[in-house]
Amino acid sequence: MKKTILNYLEELDEIAAYWIGRHFPRPSVALGEETNEQYCSWCGQTQEDVSFCTCGTREIAWSRVIRLGSYEPPLSTCVIRGKYSRWYEVLELIGRRLGRRVRGCVPPNAVVVPMPMPYLRWWFRGINHSAVLAKYVAQTARLQRSNPLLRKETPPQAGMSAGGRSRLKTSSILSLPWANLRGKPVVLVDDVLTTGRTLEVAAKALRSIGASTITVAVAAVTNFEERPKKVISASFPH
Ligand SMILES: [Zn+2]
Repeated sequence: MKKTILNYLEELDEIAAYWIGRHFPRPSVALGEETNEQYCSWCGQTQEDVSFCTCGTREIAWSRVIRLGSYEPPLSTCVIRGKYSRWYEVLELIGRRLGRRVRGCVPPNAVVVPMPMPYLRWWFRGINHSAVLAKYVAQTARLQRSNPLLRKETPPQAGMSAGGRSRLKTSSILSLPWANLRGKPVVLVDDVLTTGRTLEVAAKALRSIGASTITVAVAAVTNFEERPKKVISASFPH
């Protein structure tokens, strides 16, 4: 097979990575090409025909979901390695790709807000993945960024049953006393949308400080067949 310059560059990159002890491939290689699956813009589920989505009967705490793809490899692997192995560069690339999708879909006065992480967990993990994603979403979409939320220490959601997730207390995410988003559209950024409970709680906190509309921007959405039985159970008015 004829090798292009790009092949040689990739090989060189791998050799360099080996010698300097960097174990990750280039983010663009790990993430692969962007996919363009059809999805429901309310619940974020992959749908061949979005007009048939069953989420229409539920109340959803946000007005729209923007996502990169389904929660499956290579996207899911990259999210996990970004989050637990502190692979900053892959989170940066995910954030930039997501930012390109957000750009033009929200008004120019929209504010990008990361899903808050409890400080202790941040300290242990050494990376705040949602904050990294939000930084590059804001930069690429040319929007302002703000951190008006605070998350109390609770057990991590990953590995928790659907029941446990849906019990996440409304008081677990608070808005900072000086935060004010009066009349501003908000882009709430997180890595994965599964039951939607955490995003729902964060959306409520954002509304309490005046956010006008909430657009959820996530790297990936866990599809219905794979996700826990209990799904979005929002009980807030729009
Ligand atoms: Zn839907």
